[in-house]
Amino acid sequence: MNPAEWLARTARARPEAPALFHGTAQVADYADFARRAGSIGAALAARGIKAGDKVALFLPNSVDYLPIFYGILYAGACAVPINGKLHEREAAWITAHSGAKLVFTADPGVLRGTGDIDGVPCIATGSDAFDDMLATAPLPWPAPMAQTDPAWLFYTSGTTGRPKGALLSCGNLMAMSLSYFADVDDVSDRDAALYAAPMSHGAGLYNFVHVLRGARHIVPESGGFDPGEILRLAQQMRNISMFAAPTMVKRLVSAAHSAGADGEGIKTIVYGGGPMYVADIKQALATFGPKFVQIYGQGESPMTITALSRADIANSDHPDWEARLASVGQAQSVAEVRILDTDGTPLPPGEIGEIAVRGPQVMTGYLDNPDANAKTIVDGWLMTGDMGHLDEGGYLTLHDRAKDLVISGGTNIYPREVEEALLTHPAVSEVSVIGAPDPEWGEIVVAFVVADGPLETGELDEVCTSLIARFKKPKRYVFVSDLPKNNYGKVLKTELRERLKEM
Ligand code: AMP
Repeated sequence: MNPAEWLARTARARPEAPALFHGTAQVADYADFARRAGSIGAALAARGIKAGDKVALFLPNSVDYLPIFYGILYAGACAVPINGKLHEREAAWITAHSGAKLVFTADPGVLRGTGDIDGVPCIATGSDAFDDMLATAPLPWPAPMAQTDPAWLFYTSGTTGRPKGALLSCGNLMAMSLSYFADVDDVSDRDAALYAAPMSHGAGLYNFVHVLRGARHIVPESGGFDPGEILRLAQQMRNISMFAAPTMVKRLVSAAHSAGADGEGIKTIVYGGGPMYVADIKQALATFGPKFVQIYGQGESPMTITALSRADIANSDHPDWEARLASVGQAQSVAEVRILDTDGTPLPPGEIGEIAVRGPQVMTGYLDNPDANAKTIVDGWLMTGDMGHLDEGGYLTLHDRAKDLVISGGTNIYPREVEEALLTHPAVSEVSVIGAPDPEWGEIVVAFVVADGPLETGELDEVCTSLIARFKKPKRYVFVSDLPKNNYGKVLKTELRERLKEM
């Protein structure tokens, strides 16, 4: 089934329900939202776009995003959302790699001259060509699509090397959405999805559940993440749900502290995409109350591997509360999760290995990348590249990606454990731990620390010795004003390793 059926259905059942908002201003109800999508779909079809073709969106978050996205689906084509914050060369590379037949951009000139995509038409939002598309007689229904047809070509964030294009089918997106209702949160027509993170990724993937239930979709006026604006919008618009990377949650909490706010109007913050440290989620809970759900996923198994429920996060009386906060929760309903050793044998609870996942939400494969496909999908299991262990109750704890593991004196050290320890010091605001080559130990532990105030390395040593084994204590601290991060807020450990080489 074409996921755009959900839009068509909601628009017929509740045409006047408020749908798209720019800040607090309503831009479209559901009838208008579906009409715009149908018009763009018809205009794409008139330009020769047909089932299976790719159409790219290189756009910042905006109220045009969802009508364009659904317009592509109405035509039966596959959307290629590209993060609007990427450099135009990166966007041009993705466009060329995807084989997109057309690109929607905010600025028509931006991709020209990059050399990669000559001949591919670019339609700028706000241009006459775009207005003509919106004025086309709309398709009454989305084109039929099968479960295995590609609907979203998801380019991984690529913290190392070139991004890969994970083909997400209609069936993948439906499985992800149904799991959201089962494992993450319920959604009603009084709710609103707030897009504070890029709509090309996690935040955008959560549009489907909100479309199905006829909820509102709010794009902040800033088009992105401004903590003060989010807190204000939540108060004004109420029942807000949003996806946020842990670094965004931290900034939101500190903005609320400064403003004396308590997150009024926020219903749910789903966090994931990177490690949330225990000290940070405790502070977030103390400030906002039980509004948090965690998910663990990756582009290849979108938003859907495990979830840590609102109840688990809030249940501070539970004897395993802290361990659960440090975990990423239990397998989502549709996902099977195993921990495998290096030869693919499943490991028992407590033992650390690579996390493998299987289920109807797992991508059909990477586009044009047989080598990566062979390495990543093994006997039907998606090899995530993440290391972790399950406990007896099925809670999964991540232990850094295999390549981030530090091996010092022949012993494995998981950076996350050292980072958690250092973050308990009140003057440490952010930290990232990596391994540096060392002639004596093989590797030594190095901590990059962002401090809030004056801080002696001796104090950090003390904190470590009180919480973790001596051999895990960093041998070197590097104080920095901030950590290098990609557009999704993930710390770029590769860049830290490079910096260290130059020091
Ligand atoms: P991407 O495909 O760009 O979304 O990146 C997915 C990767 O982000 C995963 O393979 C994990 O390494 C990391 N990740 C996602 N969710 C979490 C989480 N809840 N906690 C820690 N790391 C996460």
